[in-house]
Amino acid sequence: MLPTKIVSTVNKSARLEHERLTSLINSMADGVIAVDEHGRLAIYNGAALNILDVNTLKPGMPIGSLMKLIDKNNQPVDIVELVRDTKLATSNRDYRLSYGDGSNINLYLSIAPVHLGYGKNGQHGHVLLLRDITHEKSLEEERDEFISVVSHELRTPIAIAEGNISNAQFITDKTGDLAAVKKALQEAHNQILFLSDMINDLSTLSRAERGKLTLEVEPINVHEFVTELAANYEKDAAAKGLAIHAVIDPKLEVLYSSKLYVREILQNFITNAIKYTEKGSVEIAAKAKTDGVVFAVTDTGIGISKSDQERVYDKFFRSEDFRTRATNGTGLGLYVTMKLARLLHTDISLTSELNKGSTFTIVVPNLAQAK
Ligand code: ADP
Repeated sequence: MLPTKIVSTVNKSARLEHERLTSLINSMADGVIAVDEHGRLAIYNGAALNILDVNTLKPGMPIGSLMKLIDKNNQPVDIVELVRDTKLATSNRDYRLSYGDGSNINLYLSIAPVHLGYGKNGQHGHVLLLRDITHEKSLEEERDEFISVVSHELRTPIAIAEGNISNAQFITDKTGDLAAVKKALQEAHNQILFLSDMINDLSTLSRAERGKLTLEVEPINVHEFVTELAANYEKDAAAKGLAIHAVIDPKLEVLYSSKLYVREILQNFITNAIKYTEKGSVEIAAKAKTDGVVFAVTDTGIGISKSDQERVYDKFFRSEDFRTRATNGTGLGLYVTMKLARLLHTDISLTSELNKGSTFTIVVPNLAQAK
Protein backbone atom coordinates (compact mmCIF):
# COMPACT_ATOMS: atom_id res chain seq x y z
CA MET A 1 0.00 0.00 0.00
CA LEU A 2 1.28 3.48 -0.83
CA PRO A 3 1.83 5.91 2.03
CA THR A 4 -0.96 8.60 2.32
CA LYS A 5 1.41 11.41 1.31
CA ILE A 6 2.31 9.70 -1.99
CA VAL A 7 -1.39 8.93 -2.71
CA SER A 8 -2.28 12.58 -2.19
CA THR A 9 0.61 13.72 -4.44
CA VAL A 10 -0.53 11.27 -7.14
CA ASN A 11 -4.14 12.57 -6.79
CA LYS A 12 -2.92 16.13 -6.96
CA SER A 13 -0.92 15.63 -10.11
CA ALA A 14 -3.75 13.65 -11.72
CA ARG A 15 -6.16 16.51 -10.85
CA LEU A 16 -3.73 19.03 -12.28
CA GLU A 17 -3.43 17.06 -15.48
CA HIS A 18 -7.22 16.72 -15.68
CA GLU A 19 -7.59 20.49 -15.29
CA ARG A 20 -5.00 21.08 -17.99
CA LEU A 21 -6.79 18.75 -20.39
CA THR A 22 -10.16 20.31 -19.59
CA SER A 23 -8.88 23.79 -20.27
CA LEU A 24 -7.18 22.54 -23.45
CA ILE A 25 -10.32 20.99 -24.94
CA ASN A 26 -12.40 23.96 -23.83
CA SER A 27 -10.10 26.30 -25.71
CA MET A 28 -10.62 24.36 -28.96
CA ALA A 29 -12.72 25.96 -31.69
CA ASP A 30 -14.03 22.55 -32.78
CA GLY A 31 -16.66 20.71 -30.81
CA VAL A 32 -15.22 17.71 -28.95
CA ILE A 33 -17.31 14.88 -27.61
CA ALA A 34 -15.93 11.69 -26.07
CA VAL A 35 -18.19 8.68 -25.61
CA ASP A 36 -17.48 5.48 -23.72
CA GLU A 37 -17.62 1.98 -25.15
CA HIS A 38 -21.42 1.95 -24.64
CA GLY A 39 -21.78 5.11 -26.70
CA ARG A 40 -22.52 7.25 -23.62
CA LEU A 41 -21.25 10.80 -23.22
CA ALA A 42 -18.08 11.02 -21.15
CA ILE A 43 -16.50 14.41 -21.97
CA TYR A 44 -17.50 17.44 -24.05
CA ASN A 45 -16.35 21.01 -24.54
CA GLY A 46 -18.03 24.40 -24.90
CA ALA A 47 -17.75 24.41 -28.70
CA ALA A 48 -19.74 21.13 -28.79
CA LEU A 49 -22.58 22.86 -26.91
CA ASN A 50 -22.56 25.65 -29.50
CA ILE A 51 -22.65 23.27 -32.46
CA LEU A 52 -25.35 21.08 -30.91
CA ASP A 53 -27.19 24.27 -29.95
CA VAL A 54 -27.85 23.22 -26.33
CA ASN A 55 -27.06 24.87 -23.00
CA THR A 56 -25.76 21.79 -21.28
CA LEU A 57 -25.23 18.05 -21.71
CA LYS A 58 -25.47 15.34 -19.08
CA PRO A 59 -22.58 12.87 -18.83
CA GLY A 60 -23.94 9.40 -19.50
CA MET A 61 -26.41 10.57 -22.16
CA PRO A 62 -26.58 8.11 -25.07
CA ILE A 63 -24.96 9.53 -28.22
CA GLY A 64 -28.14 8.79 -30.21
CA SER A 65 -30.02 11.40 -28.18
CA LEU A 66 -27.25 14.00 -28.59
CA MET A 67 -27.44 14.58 -32.30
CA LYS A 68 -29.39 13.69 -35.42
CA LEU A 69 -27.31 13.29 -38.56
CA ILE A 70 -28.51 13.17 -42.15
CA ASP A 71 -26.47 12.22 -45.18
CA LYS A 72 -26.21 14.08 -48.52
CA ASN A 73 -29.35 12.30 -49.77
CA ASN A 74 -31.26 13.55 -46.73
CA GLN A 75 -31.40 10.06 -45.23
CA PRO A 76 -31.01 9.71 -41.44
CA VAL A 77 -27.67 8.29 -40.31
CA ASP A 78 -27.53 5.96 -37.31
CA ILE A 79 -24.86 7.70 -35.24
CA VAL A 80 -24.73 4.86 -32.67
CA GLU A 81 -23.87 2.36 -35.38
CA LEU A 82 -21.52 4.82 -37.10
CA VAL A 83 -19.48 5.35 -33.93
CA ARG A 84 -19.56 1.69 -32.88
CA ASP A 85 -18.30 0.55 -36.29
CA THR A 86 -15.41 3.03 -36.38
CA LYS A 87 -12.25 1.02 -35.80
CA LEU A 88 -9.84 3.48 -37.43
CA ALA A 89 -9.92 7.29 -37.30
CA THR A 90 -12.14 8.64 -40.10
CA SER A 91 -13.50 11.99 -41.16
CA ASN A 92 -16.39 13.06 -43.33
CA ARG A 93 -17.56 16.39 -44.80
CA ASP A 94 -20.85 15.24 -46.26
CA TYR A 95 -23.06 14.84 -43.19
CA ARG A 96 -25.50 17.42 -41.96
CA LEU A 97 -26.53 17.99 -38.38
CA SER A 98 -30.27 18.35 -38.11
CA TYR A 99 -31.90 20.44 -35.39
CA GLY A 100 -35.33 19.97 -33.83
CA ASP A 101 -36.82 22.93 -35.73
CA GLY A 102 -35.98 21.35 -39.11
CA SER A 103 -32.93 23.55 -39.83
CA ASN A 104 -29.54 21.94 -40.39
CA ILE A 105 -25.86 22.73 -40.85
CA ASN A 106 -23.08 21.10 -42.88
CA LEU A 107 -20.80 19.22 -40.56
CA TYR A 108 -17.19 18.15 -40.61
CA LEU A 109 -17.24 15.03 -38.45
CA SER A 110 -14.16 13.12 -37.40
CA ILE A 111 -14.46 9.98 -35.31
CA ALA A 112 -11.48 8.27 -33.68
CA PRO A 113 -11.38 5.26 -31.39
CA VAL A 114 -9.55 6.11 -28.16
CA HIS A 115 -8.55 4.73 -24.85
CA LEU A 116 -10.27 6.83 -22.17
CA GLY A 117 -8.45 6.78 -18.87
CA TYR A 118 -5.34 5.04 -17.67
CA GLY A 119 -4.04 1.56 -17.33
CA LYS A 120 -5.53 -1.77 -18.23
CA ASN A 121 -8.86 -0.84 -16.72
CA GLY A 122 -9.14 2.35 -18.74
CA GLN A 123 -12.26 2.27 -20.89
CA HIS A 124 -12.35 2.24 -24.67
CA GLY A 125 -14.40 4.80 -26.41
CA HIS A 126 -14.50 7.28 -29.26
CA VAL A 127 -13.73 10.94 -29.67
CA LEU A 128 -15.85 12.94 -32.08
CA LEU A 129 -14.71 16.24 -33.52
CA LEU A 130 -17.47 18.49 -34.88
CA ARG A 131 -17.09 21.61 -37.04
CA ASP A 132 -19.75 23.74 -38.71
CA ILE A 133 -18.64 23.95 -42.38
CA THR A 134 -21.84 25.41 -43.80
CA HIS A 135 -20.04 28.53 -45.05
CA GLU A 136 -17.21 26.58 -46.74
CA LYS A 137 -19.71 24.20 -48.30
CA SER A 138 -21.76 27.03 -49.77
CA LEU A 139 -18.57 28.61 -51.17
CA GLU A 140 -17.60 25.26 -52.69
CA GLU A 141 -21.05 24.86 -54.22
CA GLU A 142 -20.94 28.40 -55.57
CA ARG A 143 -17.49 27.78 -57.07
CA ASP A 144 -18.64 24.52 -58.71
CA GLU A 145 -21.70 26.24 -60.13
CA PHE A 146 -19.53 29.12 -61.32
CA ILE A 147 -17.14 26.80 -63.15
CA SER A 148 -19.97 24.85 -64.74
CA VAL A 149 -21.84 27.98 -65.88
CA VAL A 150 -18.68 29.65 -67.21
CA SER A 151 -17.57 26.58 -69.13
CA HIS A 152 -21.05 26.22 -70.55
CA GLU A 153 -21.14 29.90 -71.54
CA LEU A 154 -17.69 29.65 -73.15
CA ARG A 155 -18.52 26.52 -75.09
CA THR A 156 -21.26 28.05 -77.27
CA PRO A 157 -19.29 31.02 -78.70
CA ILE A 158 -16.20 28.86 -79.17
CA ALA A 159 -18.26 26.29 -81.09
CA ILE A 160 -19.87 28.99 -83.27
CA ALA A 161 -16.52 30.70 -83.97
CA GLU A 162 -14.86 27.38 -84.76
CA GLY A 163 -17.75 26.34 -87.04
CA ASN A 164 -17.60 29.61 -88.96
CA ILE A 165 -13.84 29.54 -89.39
CA SER A 166 -13.89 25.99 -90.70
CA ASN A 167 -16.80 26.96 -92.95
CA ALA A 168 -14.74 29.88 -94.31
CA GLN A 169 -11.87 27.47 -95.07
CA PHE A 170 -14.25 25.08 -96.78
CA ILE A 171 -15.79 27.83 -98.94
CA THR A 172 -12.33 29.15 -99.86
CA ASP A 173 -11.29 25.68 -101.07
CA LYS A 174 -14.52 24.80 -102.84
CA THR A 175 -16.17 27.88 -104.32
CA GLY A 176 -13.98 30.82 -103.39
CA ASP A 177 -17.18 32.84 -102.72
CA LEU A 178 -15.61 35.84 -100.98
CA ALA A 179 -18.89 37.28 -99.69
CA ALA A 180 -19.71 34.00 -97.94
CA VAL A 181 -16.19 33.80 -96.50
CA LYS A 182 -16.49 37.37 -95.24
CA LYS A 183 -19.85 36.61 -93.60
CA ALA A 184 -18.50 33.52 -91.83
CA LEU A 185 -15.43 35.41 -90.61
CA GLN A 186 -17.59 38.29 -89.42
CA GLU A 187 -19.65 35.90 -87.30
CA ALA A 188 -16.50 34.25 -85.93
CA HIS A 189 -15.13 37.70 -85.11
CA ASN A 190 -18.36 38.65 -83.25
CA GLN A 191 -18.08 35.53 -81.13
CA ILE A 192 -14.43 36.25 -80.30
CA LEU A 193 -15.42 39.79 -79.27
CA PHE A 194 -18.10 38.31 -77.04
CA LEU A 195 -15.55 35.95 -75.49
CA SER A 196 -13.22 38.84 -74.84
CA ASP A 197 -16.05 40.80 -73.11
CA MET A 198 -16.77 37.80 -71.01
CA ILE A 199 -13.16 37.35 -69.98
CA ASN A 200 -13.07 41.05 -69.03
CA ASP A 201 -16.20 40.63 -66.89
CA LEU A 202 -14.70 37.57 -65.27
CA SER A 203 -11.41 39.25 -64.49
CA THR A 204 -13.14 42.34 -63.01
CA LEU A 205 -15.33 39.97 -61.06
CA SER A 206 -12.44 37.98 -59.71
CA ARG A 207 -10.58 41.13 -58.67
CA ALA A 208 -13.74 42.51 -57.05
CA GLU A 209 -14.39 39.27 -55.18
CA ARG A 210 -10.86 39.17 -53.84
CA GLY A 211 -11.25 42.77 -52.72
CA LYS A 212 -8.34 43.72 -55.01
CA LEU A 213 -10.06 46.67 -56.66
CA THR A 214 -8.76 49.99 -55.48
CA LEU A 215 -10.43 53.28 -55.85
CA GLU A 216 -8.50 56.03 -57.61
CA VAL A 217 -10.39 59.26 -57.26
CA GLU A 218 -9.84 61.83 -60.01
CA PRO A 219 -11.67 64.88 -61.33
CA ILE A 220 -14.20 64.01 -64.05
CA ASN A 221 -15.51 66.61 -66.45
CA VAL A 222 -19.01 65.12 -66.61
CA HIS A 223 -20.05 67.03 -69.71
CA GLU A 224 -17.12 65.76 -71.74
CA PHE A 225 -17.31 62.31 -70.20
CA VAL A 226 -20.99 61.70 -71.10
CA THR A 227 -20.68 63.23 -74.58
CA GLU A 228 -17.76 60.93 -75.30
CA LEU A 229 -19.63 57.87 -73.99
CA ALA A 230 -22.67 58.59 -76.18
CA ALA A 231 -20.39 59.08 -79.20
CA ASN A 232 -18.64 55.76 -78.53
CA TYR A 233 -21.93 53.88 -78.79
CA GLU A 234 -23.42 55.74 -81.75
CA LYS A 235 -22.26 53.07 -84.20
CA ASP A 236 -23.63 50.13 -82.17
CA ALA A 237 -26.96 51.92 -81.68
CA ALA A 238 -27.20 52.89 -85.36
CA ALA A 239 -26.52 49.28 -86.38
CA LYS A 240 -29.79 48.39 -84.64
CA GLY A 241 -31.62 51.46 -85.97
CA LEU A 242 -31.65 53.10 -82.51
CA ALA A 243 -31.07 56.75 -81.69
CA ILE A 244 -28.70 57.52 -78.83
CA HIS A 245 -28.50 60.87 -77.11
CA ALA A 246 -27.01 62.52 -74.08
CA VAL A 247 -29.00 64.88 -71.85
CA ILE A 248 -26.58 66.87 -69.74
CA ASP A 249 -27.50 69.26 -66.96
CA PRO A 250 -25.77 72.63 -67.71
CA LYS A 251 -25.25 73.15 -63.95
CA LEU A 252 -22.87 70.19 -63.83
CA GLU A 253 -19.40 70.80 -62.50
CA VAL A 254 -16.47 68.52 -61.90
CA LEU A 255 -17.21 65.17 -60.22
CA TYR A 256 -14.57 63.54 -58.02
CA SER A 257 -14.80 59.79 -58.31
CA SER A 258 -13.23 56.85 -60.12
CA LYS A 259 -13.51 57.58 -63.82
CA LEU A 260 -12.71 53.96 -64.62
CA TYR A 261 -15.51 52.50 -62.52
CA VAL A 262 -18.13 55.13 -63.39
CA ARG A 263 -17.33 54.47 -67.04
CA GLU A 264 -17.54 50.71 -66.60
CA ILE A 265 -20.91 50.99 -64.85
CA LEU A 266 -22.40 53.29 -67.49
CA GLN A 267 -20.98 51.18 -70.33
CA ASN A 268 -22.75 48.19 -68.85
CA PHE A 269 -26.07 50.08 -68.69
CA ILE A 270 -25.62 51.37 -72.24
CA THR A 271 -24.65 48.04 -73.82
CA ASN A 272 -27.63 46.41 -72.10
CA ALA A 273 -29.93 49.24 -73.20
CA ILE A 274 -28.84 48.74 -76.83
CA LYS A 275 -28.92 44.96 -76.58
CA TYR A 276 -32.41 44.75 -75.07
CA THR A 277 -34.06 47.41 -77.24
CA GLU A 278 -35.55 46.57 -80.62
CA LYS A 279 -36.76 50.01 -81.61
CA GLY A 280 -36.68 53.55 -80.29
CA SER A 281 -33.86 55.17 -78.41
CA VAL A 282 -31.31 55.11 -75.62
CA GLU A 283 -30.78 58.18 -73.48
CA ILE A 284 -27.83 58.89 -71.19
CA ALA A 285 -28.65 61.59 -68.69
CA ALA A 286 -26.43 63.34 -66.14
CA LYS A 287 -27.91 65.67 -63.55
CA ALA A 288 -26.30 67.71 -60.78
CA LYS A 289 -27.17 66.78 -57.22
CA THR A 290 -25.86 68.06 -53.90
CA ASP A 291 -22.54 66.28 -53.41
CA GLY A 292 -22.76 64.19 -56.53
CA VAL A 293 -24.14 63.43 -59.97
CA VAL A 294 -27.17 61.35 -60.95
CA PHE A 295 -26.52 59.26 -64.05
CA ALA A 296 -29.45 57.51 -65.72
CA VAL A 297 -29.60 55.32 -68.81
CA THR A 298 -33.11 54.96 -70.24
CA ASP A 299 -34.20 52.74 -73.09
CA THR A 300 -37.44 52.02 -74.92
CA GLY A 301 -36.72 48.30 -74.95
CA ILE A 302 -38.23 45.01 -73.87
CA GLY A 303 -38.41 46.04 -70.19
CA ILE A 304 -37.97 43.84 -67.14
CA SER A 305 -40.81 42.12 -65.28
CA LYS A 306 -41.33 42.93 -61.58
CA SER A 307 -40.08 39.51 -60.45
CA ASP A 308 -36.97 39.73 -62.67
CA GLN A 309 -36.21 43.24 -61.39
CA GLU A 310 -35.31 41.76 -58.00
CA ARG A 311 -32.88 39.32 -59.59
CA VAL A 312 -31.03 41.27 -62.29
CA TYR A 313 -28.02 41.86 -59.98
CA ASP A 314 -27.68 38.16 -59.14
CA LYS A 315 -24.61 36.36 -60.45
CA PHE A 316 -25.41 34.74 -63.84
CA PHE A 317 -29.02 35.88 -63.83
CA ARG A 318 -30.54 36.21 -67.29
CA SER A 319 -34.26 36.67 -67.86
CA GLU A 320 -36.18 33.71 -69.30
CA ASP A 321 -37.80 36.16 -71.75
CA PHE A 322 -37.28 34.75 -75.26
CA ARG A 323 -36.02 38.15 -76.47
CA THR A 324 -33.27 38.06 -73.82
CA ARG A 325 -32.43 34.48 -74.71
CA ALA A 326 -32.05 35.47 -78.37
CA THR A 327 -29.05 37.62 -77.35
CA ASN A 328 -25.64 36.64 -76.06
CA GLY A 329 -24.90 37.38 -72.44
CA THR A 330 -23.25 36.04 -69.34
CA GLY A 331 -25.55 37.45 -66.65
CA LEU A 332 -22.43 38.82 -64.97
CA GLY A 333 -22.58 42.44 -66.14
CA LEU A 334 -25.00 43.84 -63.57
CA TYR A 335 -23.55 41.69 -60.81
CA VAL A 336 -20.11 43.23 -61.42
CA THR A 337 -21.70 46.66 -61.88
CA MET A 338 -23.34 46.46 -58.45
CA LYS A 339 -19.97 45.52 -56.91
CA LEU A 340 -18.37 48.56 -58.55
CA ALA A 341 -21.24 50.78 -57.37
CA ARG A 342 -20.64 49.62 -53.79
CA LEU A 343 -16.96 50.55 -54.18
CA LEU A 344 -18.10 54.04 -55.15
CA HIS A 345 -20.20 54.08 -51.94
CA THR A 346 -23.46 54.01 -53.79
CA ASP A 347 -26.23 51.83 -55.13
CA ILE A 348 -28.06 51.23 -58.39
CA SER A 349 -31.79 51.70 -58.82
CA LEU A 350 -34.03 50.44 -61.57
CA THR A 351 -37.47 51.35 -62.86
CA SER A 352 -38.87 49.32 -65.69
CA GLU A 353 -42.07 48.30 -67.38
CA LEU A 354 -42.37 45.21 -69.51
CA ASN A 355 -42.50 46.04 -73.25
CA LYS A 356 -42.02 49.77 -72.54
CA GLY A 357 -38.43 50.16 -71.38
CA SER A 358 -36.09 50.51 -68.44
CA THR A 359 -34.09 53.14 -66.59
CA PHE A 360 -30.98 52.25 -64.63
CA THR A 361 -29.91 55.04 -62.28
CA ILE A 362 -26.81 55.56 -60.18
CA VAL A 363 -26.12 58.51 -57.89
CA VAL A 364 -22.34 58.90 -57.84
CA PRO A 365 -21.19 60.79 -54.73
CA ASN A 366 -18.42 63.35 -54.85
CA LEU A 367 -15.69 61.40 -53.08
CA ALA A 368 -13.19 64.22 -52.76
CA GLN A 369 -15.72 66.35 -50.87
CA ALA A 370 -16.63 63.47 -48.60
CA LYS A 371 -13.01 63.24 -47.34
P1 ADP B 1 -26.29 39.93 -69.60
O1 ADP B 1 -26.75 41.16 -70.30
O2 ADP B 1 -24.93 39.48 -69.98
O3 ADP B 1 -27.31 38.81 -69.68
P2 ADP B 1 -26.47 41.48 -67.14
O4 ADP B 1 -26.01 41.10 -65.77
O5 ADP B 1 -25.92 42.71 -67.72
O6 ADP B 1 -26.16 40.21 -68.04
O7 ADP B 1 -28.04 41.58 -67.10
C1 ADP B 1 -28.79 40.58 -66.44
C2 ADP B 1 -30.18 40.45 -67.08
O8 ADP B 1 -30.95 41.62 -66.77
C3 ADP B 1 -30.18 40.36 -68.58
O9 ADP B 1 -29.95 39.05 -69.03
C4 ADP B 1 -31.59 40.83 -68.91
O10 ADP B 1 -32.51 39.79 -68.69
C5 ADP B 1 -31.84 41.91 -67.85
N1 ADP B 1 -31.54 43.28 -68.33
C6 ADP B 1 -30.47 44.04 -68.04
N2 ADP B 1 -30.55 45.24 -68.60
C7 ADP B 1 -31.71 45.26 -69.29
C8 ADP B 1 -32.39 46.24 -70.09
N3 ADP B 1 -31.88 47.46 -70.30
N4 ADP B 1 -33.59 45.89 -70.64
C9 ADP B 1 -34.12 44.67 -70.41
N5 ADP B 1 -33.54 43.71 -69.66
C10 ADP B 1 -32.36 43.99 -69.12
